[in-house]
Amino acid sequence: MEKKNIDWSNLNFGYIQTEKRYVSWFKDGAWDEGALTEDATVVLNECAGVLQYAQTIFEGLKAYTTDDGHIVAFRPDLNGERMEDSARRLEMPAFPKERFVDAVTKVVAANAAYVPPYGSGATLYVRPYMFGANSVIGVKPADVYQFRIFCTPVGPYFKGGVKPLTICVSDFDRAAPHGTGHIKAGLNYAMSLHAIVSAHKNGFDENMYLDPGTRTRVEETGGANFLFVTRDGKVVTPRSDSILPSITRRSLMHVAKEYLGLEVEEREVYLEELKDFAECGLCGTAAVISPVGKIVDHGREICLPSGMTEMGPVTKKLYDTLTGIQMGRIEAPEGWIHIIE
Ligand SMILES: *Cc1c(COP(=O)(O)O)cnc(C)c1O
Repeated sequence: MEKKNIDWSNLNFGYIQTEKRYVSWFKDGAWDEGALTEDATVVLNECAGVLQYAQTIFEGLKAYTTDDGHIVAFRPDLNGERMEDSARRLEMPAFPKERFVDAVTKVVAANAAYVPPYGSGATLYVRPYMFGANSVIGVKPADVYQFRIFCTPVGPYFKGGVKPLTICVSDFDRAAPHGTGHIKAGLNYAMSLHAIVSAHKNGFDENMYLDPGTRTRVEETGGANFLFVTRDGKVVTPRSDSILPSITRRSLMHVAKEYLGLEVEEREVYLEELKDFAECGLCGTAAVISPVGKIVDHGREICLPSGMTEMGPVTKKLYDTLTGIQMGRIEAPEGWIHIIE
């Protein structure tokens, strides 16, 4: 198959329209069989549930070319499961996870010409989403939904090399206790926009959100979970019901324990103990891990010993091992690599 003439290594994280996307409708209590389409436009009634009451959820995952030339996706079954959980919390019909994986497979295969070649550092970002599509004026769940998946090629995350981030402890909250922090819903992002724009204006790359109940514990950033490394080499990630369960973070914790033989802990992490950590990273599909060099808490600077020029040694090992597994250079645990073609 002929690849598109794209300068893969210089792509940004932006939207490039590809040829095919997937659509399935939920009507009269059931999902239709779904199909690929070339129409990238969504037409909705002015009173659609998604427009009035933000009834929408999404997922994000990557497809890419491995060392041996296969096009694969990384653990799409977990995205399918998480999207079922998100749907239930917003009173939307779950799109079955088996069908989710099948639809991801179809969209990626139909756009194989847009899957960046091995070694370019670029990937095909896959965006499944679902929204209430019929008119609702009284506050209630919609009856009609669209589940869609589009994809877009995106460039390497660390383009001019790795640059550790400077983040700030936010005065805004991301998720209420017993709220919707654990699901991937557009509403969590709408309300994070003011906080991230403010952080950028103040010279920070990201926000560190605390637990809104006591504001003493670390939760996550707007779109990535935290990993910390203690001075004696233990890998720690915060536990909280309002953190979005990152598939990258869960995979990295497995890699830390089973591949690198490190001790791992998922537990409450206090703001007050940040000064004791050796390394800090943000985990998510986009970057796998972005190292954090400095955390600023209202003028108090916490400088991670790993510094502002490179990834800390444990973060680097975790990054190299997980990307090695993804790219087929290191043997993957059973079921992690979904071969598309
Ligand atoms: C998507 C997301 C993440 C990262 O999850 P991955 O499955 O690793 O991509 C982390 N935090 C939030 C709030 C997210 O929405």
